[in-house]
This record gives sequence, structure tokens and C-alpha cells, in this order.
Amino acid sequence: MRFPLALTAKIAAHILKHKLLRTRRFALVLQLEPLHTCNLTCTGCGRIREYSTSLKDMMTLEDCLGAAVEAGAPMVSVCGGEPLIYPHIEELVAGLLRQGRIVYVCTNGVFMRRKLCEYLASIYTPALEPELTTLLRDNLISGRDAAAVRQGTTRSRPVIAPTKWLYWNVHVDGLEYTHDLAVEREGVFRECVAAIRLAKRLGFQVATNTTVYKETDMREIEQLFQYVSALGVDGHTISPGYDFDAAKRDMIQRLGKNPADFFLTREMTRKKFANILEWGDRFNIFGTRVYQEFLAGKRELTCTAWAIPTRNIRGWKAPCYLMTDTHYPTYRQMLDEVDWNRYGVVNGVARDPRCENCMVHCGYDPSGALGVNARQGDTWKNIKYNFGSRPKPNPEGLRVKAFNGVSIGKGHLAEAKAALGFAKPPARSAAPGGAGVAAAAQEAHEAHEAQGAALGGRQG
Ligand code: SF4
Ligand code: SF4
Repeated sequence: MRFPLALTAKIAAHILKHKLLRTRRFALVLQLEPLHTCNLTCTGCGRIREYSTSLKDMMTLEDCLGAAVEAGAPMVSVCGGEPLIYPHIEELVAGLLRQGRIVYVCTNGVFMRRKLCEYLASIYTPALEPELTTLLRDNLISGRDAAAVRQGTTRSRPVIAPTKWLYWNVHVDGLEYTHDLAVEREGVFRECVAAIRLAKRLGFQVATNTTVYKETDMREIEQLFQYVSALGVDGHTISPGYDFDAAKRDMIQRLGKNPADFFLTREMTRKKFANILEWGDRFNIFGTRVYQEFLAGKRELTCTAWAIPTRNIRGWKAPCYLMTDTHYPTYRQMLDEVDWNRYGVVNGVARDPRCENCMVHCGYDPSGALGVNARQGDTWKNIKYNFGSRPKPNPEGLRVKAFNGVSIGKGHLAEAKAALGFAKPPARSAAPGGAGVAAAAQEAHEAHEAQGAALGGRQG
């Protein structure tokens, strides 16, 4: 199966329950953003721009767990910002698992190995020594990490431990050159790969999360999927990027770029995703077959953004993950007060001009699962896809030249700085293990910890 049976059954039971109850609108996945702080500044990220005035604010743990109960969704995607910066991330994951949710921790990967080492420390006994030796040999942990693991944990806090109910969802937008360009920092791709490999060695489930832009070469994404599936990655989410307001403004103001050169129109998305059905046969692409048909231009769907609501520091973000008209204090209020008929594209006509080019998974993937615009055979198609056997990774994927060059000095940020007359930054090491990015991550983490201490009273 593409997704563990218990998880598929949980989601199916949730949909069935609401169908029987004739619930008009309900949540399938909660996008939970405990904070918007991030250690990266990816091109195209609306979050760190839209919420730039509240980057120091965080949801309390109680608020996060309460939001999950309120939404009642079987699946919670913990995102942000970078959720591994959230000081209560372990307690949050543990609390969501206790509530019986399927949890995705959506991360840029930079702090992931640190969390994995904390897990290792929590289970350390001398019997783990042979494993530590091989992890050291494979450069997945450093000597310092091994020493810290051997000391074991003195913390009474939980750690993030492997379970079939949990996925790490690592953001990867291409192979090394492209990904580092997109996240505007060198060494991040190497760090993501190391984190993915370590997580798989420790028995975690790992997915990747890819956004496709106008300049994305789909042959490269195919190679990326070949490569990461050969590393043992359990599945992939993939979605087109489009010119939503916050990212568009940033593109013009900060980078001096034309958004039309970067984001996809509907027509371009369909061309980019023309082979997605065939990819679905070869790779474990998460989601429904119906959504894949939509991406490939074989059918229309109506947006069901209410099924993947976003909750953050300001409340329930309406109407959707990407666009903000207002924030509501409760999910119920958002469901009741938003005029959902004002959004989406119906029969090729955008009800709101901002929706015109949107085909993102958080608006349309649930439409495929919920039978919106259903055609005969859709249910069977989705069942066959999700209950069918998981495509086997091809070991040939390890031959992909994933480390295809660093982008320092050539990225969007460097161009923007050059345009503003700043000197080029000194090159950082791109040694295996991401020494350059690790140092930068450490800097960001230390700055964050200082900030977290200052915010202690507000975090609950
Ligand atoms: S890692 Fe995620 S939250 Fe951070 S800047 Fe990139 S896209 Fe935005
Ligand atoms: S189509 Fe739906 S998900 Fe896309 S921008 Fe409009 S409301 Fe949001």
C-alpha cells in the first residue's frame, strides 16, 4: 500500500462519518503554524513575508493542541515557519499523537539531524555502539553528536520518536543547485539528504515536499524522485507554485523580479504536470488520482480550501493557506462566515481573480478525495491508487548526480544584493554534512533561543 493501512482506514472512516452525517464542510488536514520564524528565506515563501511583523510570536502549546481538537481533522501538518524552531515541538507532536492524529512535521531539514540525535540519546545503551560506529562512518553524525548521544538524555521532555503515525516531510525543490538557489542558501540540500538518510536509518517515515515553479525543470524533479526514493523516502507531495499576493509582492520589492517570470499560470501547470499520472505509477506520490488528473489538465475541480484549514498565531486563516482576507477566532466561524462561492475557478472562470492560476494541493487535493465534481469510477480510481502496491524504489536512482553544484553567488539573494551594491558574501564550506549550513543553522538557532528566552512569558 502507498500509505499504511491504519492511516488510510482512519482517513476513509473520517470521510465516511461526515458523509453519513451529511456534514457540508469539514477538515481533512489541519495546517498548523505554531510560529512563522524561519532560519531560511526561500524565494516564493509567502509566510515569512506576510507575517513579517509577527515573526517573534508563537502559539502556545495549549492553543496548538486545542486547534487540532477544534478542526477534528485526522491529519495535522505542522508547518510554519520552521516548526523545529518551535520550543514545544516535541510536546506538540506527542500531544497530537495522543489525540490519535496522523502527524506530518514539515521541515526545511536544517535542524532535523539535531532532533534525530536527541531521539538517539533518549534510547542510548552501549548496545547502540555498533550503530553509532556506522553512522559516524557514513558521516550521518559527527563525533560531537556521538559523544552527546552517549551521554544519554537528562531531559524529562519527550523526543520525536518513530511511529507509523508520524512522517517527517522535508522540503526539497530540486537537486543541489536548484534547491539551494530556491532556499537562498548553500548547503541546505546536502543537509536535507543527510537528515533523510539518518531518519531512514533510525526507522522514521519520511516524505518530501516539492513546489514546482516556472523555472523548474520537470526532468530534474523526476531525477529528484528517483534519487530520494532510492534513499528510502516513503512518499512525495508535489504542488504547483503560483503568484499569491505575499510572494508576489516580495518578488517585486525585495528581488526586483517579475512574478510572471517565476510563478506558473494554469496552462503552464498543466504542461509541467502532463506526466504526473505516469509518475504516480513509478513513484509514491501522495494524494488522489483525481487531483493528479486535474493537474494534468484532464478534468476540472472546484476548490475545497475549507478542507485543509490553516491555523496560526492570528487565528483561522481565510479563505485558504495561500490567500488571506481575514483571520477568524474559530474554525466554525470561518466555515459559517466565509462565502465559499466567491473562491476557486469554475468551468474555467475565476470567481476571484487571485484564484485564477491556483491549482495547489491545499485547495484541490481534498476535492478529489471528497468526490466534488465526481465522475463515474472516481472512487474506484482513488481506492485502486491508494490501496494498490507501493512502487518499488529503483536502486539506479542512487546514480543520479544529485550534488550537481552549489549556487553561491548565483542565487536570487546574491543578485538582489549585487543590484543594491552589497559585496558578495564569503563562500561557506559545502562539505558533506553541510558544515556551512550547519554553522548558519547554529547561528539562527542560538539567536532563536535568545529570542525564545525573551518570549518565555508569552509562550504558555
Ligand atoms: S523553509 Fe519554509 S517557512 Fe522557511 S522560508 Fe522556506 S518555505 Fe518559508
Ligand atoms: S483556488 Fe482555493 S486554494 Fe487557490 S487561492 Fe483560491 S481559494 Fe485559495
